[in-house]
Amino acid sequence: MSAVADLLFPDSCAGCGRLVRGGLCDRCYRSLPRLGMDVCARCGRPSEYGVFRCPDCYGRAVGFDCARQAVRYSSTVRTLIHRFKYLGSRSSTVALAQLVAQLVPDVRTTSDVVTWVAPGSDRIRRSGLDHGRRLATLAATETNLPVAPLLRRVRRTVPQMKLPPDERRKALRGAFEAEACRGLDVVVVDDVFTTGSTASEASRALKAAGAGSVTVLCAARSYAD
Ligand SMILES: [Zn+2]
Ligand SMILES: [Zn+2]
Repeated sequence: MSAVADLLFPDSCAGCGRLVRGGLCDRCYRSLPRLGMDVCARCGRPSEYGVFRCPDCYGRAVGFDCARQAVRYSSTVRTLIHRFKYLGSRSSTVALAQLVAQLVPDVRTTSDVVTWVAPGSDRIRRSGLDHGRRLATLAATETNLPVAPLLRRVRRTVPQMKLPPDERRKALRGAFEAEACRGLDVVVVDDVFTTGSTASEASRALKAAGAGSVTVLCAARSYAD
């Protein structure tokens, strides 16, 4: 069954609108603003020189061991994510999964299983889709890693984009629980990394359930200069 977006945008590139197979044409895929090697070792935020802790995560207890993102958030990425998240476009999901998969070789030797951040049940009820599961499953398939639903949301959380960072962290505390994953090195896949608060809290739950390490891989990074 075709998803809505695949009907609305049968072959249009999320970048330039030309007819293509898949979510992006080759030219727009290649011209996405990639994040290079000079990033914060912890959260992946670009910095002029690679640093151990950037201003975003210095002095802050983050739950993951390492986070990486493939490209900087751009108008093309925004369109891709919109089609993926709200229209259920399979071709856009594939394009995002390919971006995530590019990051996996860096962490592959220490990865046992791929999982995703469980959405609120309201969200699934509204859209009928667990888009995180679709993205994680495709990214895992691209990289031959197993995928498992390790996280569940145990508490409703208010949308927190407008809260200041400290409040946001407080609002998320205890929102997740994880299946037992003793000693496993877990990769959490998501579409976009903004403040990392949700990924951090989900990682904390995985660690509490025994995860040996948690790496967060996202297609895109949103940050202010
Ligand atoms: Zn294009
Ligand atoms: Zn950082």
